[in-house]
Order: sequence, then structure tokens, then C-alpha cells
Amino acid sequence: MNNIATHEGGCLCGTVRYKTEGDPKYVGICHCRYCQLRTGSAFGISVYFDSGQVNVLQGNTSLKSFKYPTESGRQSHLQFCSDCGTTLLWSSQWRPSMTGIGGGTFDPPTFWYKIEREVFCRSKAKFINTDVNNQFDTGPVYTPLNEEALRLKGG
Ligand SMILES: [Zn+2]
Ligand SMILES: [Zn+2]
Repeated sequence: MNNIATHEGGCLCGTVRYKTEGDPKYVGICHCRYCQLRTGSAFGISVYFDSGQVNVLQGNTSLKSFKYPTESGRQSHLQFCSDCGTTLLWSSQWRPSMTGIGGGTFDPPTFWYKIEREVFCRSKAKFINTDVNNQFDTGPVYTPLNEEALRLKGG
């Protein structure tokens, strides 16, 4: 008997596939400009696991990386499919031992997880109304070191 919940998902073209084991450590909706830009949409959904809970099943060689410094001075590291562009996985110096997964990339039923909080509501689209109670204008801890341009900061 194996009672550990497993979930699989992957990119739009199907080249990259992953599997997670166990419950996520943190799940949040992020309305920051970085997430809006990387998705081309209104917000990002981050489903964070300890990195050991996440395995890339196929397509590892198709994953490309993009690293950028955030407003906090920490680096974010995105991994996306080089064939179709889906952002699948990421890590941040903010959560060094964790891997974030793009919440929309899980196989159906895609939205199986519970959202714990919403962050960076300062750049939230006016037409988004969720029932998440725990909402932050920025993040629970917000100590920016760099002043971002409006393009990347929003608000
Ligand atoms: Zn792909
Ligand atoms: Zn974000």
C-alpha cells in the first residue's frame, strides 16, 4: 500500500513531464509583475514542494533556464520548455530547498491543491476576485533592495 499522493503534469507540447510525491509545502497566488510577464496572464500559481518531492520524468534536456534578480535582491530561476515555452518549475533564494511548480501545469484535475495566500495584490488585475482570505499588498515579508521600473513593479 502506498498512501503518498502523487501528481503528474507537464508542458503544453508534452515534451517535459514531471511527477510530485506528497503534499506541497506552500501554495500561493502571485500577482507580481514577474509572474504576469512570465505567464503572459494575470497571475501565477506557485505550488512549492521540497525539491526532493519533484522528479522530471522526461524532457530534461528541453528545459531551459532564465535567471533574474528580484526586487529583494534574491535570484529567481525559472525553467521552461524550450519547444513550447511553458514555465514549469522554478526556484528562488527565498526558498532555497524548494521547487515551485506552475499551478496550471498539473494534469486534470489541475487545481487539486488549496491556495493559502495571495501576494503582490498591489498589481492585481481589477477583474480577479477570489475567496482567498489571506491577501497581501506585497508579501508577508517585504524588504526590497532594488527599486524596480514600473514595468516590473506595477502597482
Ligand atoms: Zn513543451
Ligand atoms: Zn510573482
